Formats: sequence, C-alpha cells, structure tokens
Amino acid sequence: MAKLYFYYGAMGSSKSANALMVDYNYQERGQKALLCKTGTDTRDGKNKIRSRIGLEKECMLLQDVCMMSDEQLAEYDAVICDEAQFAKTEQIDFLAHIVDYLNIPVLCYGLRTDFQMNFFEGSARLMAVADDIREIKTVCWCGRKAICNARYNEHGIIRQGSQIFLGANDSYIALCRKHFLEGKLTPEDPGDACRNQQISLEEIQDPDTDK
Ligand SMILES: [Zn+2]
Repeated sequence: MAKLYFYYGAMGSSKSANALMVDYNYQERGQKALLCKTGTDTRDGKNKIRSRIGLEKECMLLQDVCMMSDEQLAEYDAVICDEAQFAKTEQIDFLAHIVDYLNIPVLCYGLRTDFQMNFFEGSARLMAVADDIREIKTVCWCGRKAICNARYNEHGIIRQGSQIFLGANDSYIALCRKHFLEGKLTPEDPGDACRNQQISLEEIQDPDTDK
C-alpha cells in the first residue's frame, strides 16, 4: 500500500538534497517520479529544486500537479514535493488522494514550524494526515538537535513579522529550542536577556533630554 510521507526538518537539514536523491533512486530503477515544489519560494527560479550542496533539478509546481487528471498522474511511480510547508490544506489533501485512490506513494519534504515556532499550513496538515512522519535531523551550534528556524539580522533574533519572509539563506539559522528561546545565535552571543539589558542601560545613560 502506498503511503503519504512527511519528512520534516529545520533549515539546513538537507531536505531538498534528500528529495533529489530519492528522485534519482527512482530514475536509477527505471521508474519515474513526479518532482514538484510549492510556488511560494521562487528564489531558485520558478521550477527548480536546488540544494545547498549543489544538486538541482527542474520540477513542476504543486499548484499545476493539483490540476492533473488521475490518468496523467497514474503514469508516475511516485510524487515528490519539496517546500511542502507552503502547501495549502487542499493541496495536501489532493496529495492524499493520489496515495489513496491511485496507490502512488507521495513524499513531502518541508519545515515543521516557522520562525515563531508555529506550524505552517502545509506542515500542520501533513502532521495531521500523513501515514508516515519522519524527522531529518540537523544540529545547533551546541550539538543538540536543532528544531527551531530562527530569523535574524545584525541585532539578533527577529521575533515579530510575517510568517513568510524569503530572504537570503543567511537570514535564518537552525537552533535548538534552548538557544532559540535564549536568543543565542553563536557560543559567544550573550543572548536576548543581555541585549535587552544593554538597551535599557543605554536608555538610562543617555536619557532623552527633550522629554
Ligand atoms: Zn543549542
């Protein structure tokens, strides 16, 4: 029986590389996988999955896959979807339909949570309906498992903002929960508590004389 798989991991956990390797494995066995990604992240060119280690391949967009007929889909031995966190609930449900009615395995790769540790729509739906949920692990600078995707800039971790912010790769770092909550981006980083203290000290030392 085919299954709906959700492989989740923090940023930098080689999800795209894994997706491309699975696609290659199908190809090597003389089988055909339908490779796709959600349309939100278009930094890499609209129809391409690219991993940090240099692998890349043309792909379809999930929104176009969802327009395909069962007859068209039946030509494939598997469906592989990258950036699945950005999928809509209905799109994940369509992937479940492919599994249940066409008996084609669907492998989804994506982030579990956003920069505030809330689910994305696609990951929430996959957590709810996938048959098989597996973690692709990566580590924080301290060696513990990284499960948080911290958005940051030169002032430290950014806690507020819109859920989807497609900046350069250097806008995000994967941290363990403890260091995410403390706001420690590196071993030397004093963290949020110290940063906030510094700000209030500056306010005290440099009072606004206009008030
Ligand atoms: Zn850590």
